[in-house]
Amino acid sequence: MLVKSGLLADVTKTAIKYKIDGIDKLTEEDFDALIIMMKRLRRTLLEESKNLYKCSRCGNVYYSKPKFCSNCGLELA
Ligand SMILES: [Zn+2]
Repeated sequence: MLVKSGLLADVTKTAIKYKIDGIDKLTEEDFDALIIMMKRLRRTLLEESKNLYKCSRCGNVYYSKPKFCSNCGLELA
C-alpha cells in the first residue's frame, strides 16, 4: 500500500497530540516512545522540506546552515 508521507506525518501528529493529552498518565516507557516518535516525525518533515544544506565535499546533511562542516571541516560559504 502506498501512503503519502505527508499523510503519514499527519497521522503521526495526531497520535502524538493524543499522547500529550494524557502525558501525566504515560508510563516511563510510553514517554520514551513518544519522544522517539516526535524526533522521527521532525526528521521526516525536515527532510521533506527543501531547507537542507549539504556539504559539497563529504555530503553531510544539515537542517540549518553551519559555518563549517562538522564532519570534514569544510567552510560552508
Ligand atoms: Zn563535509
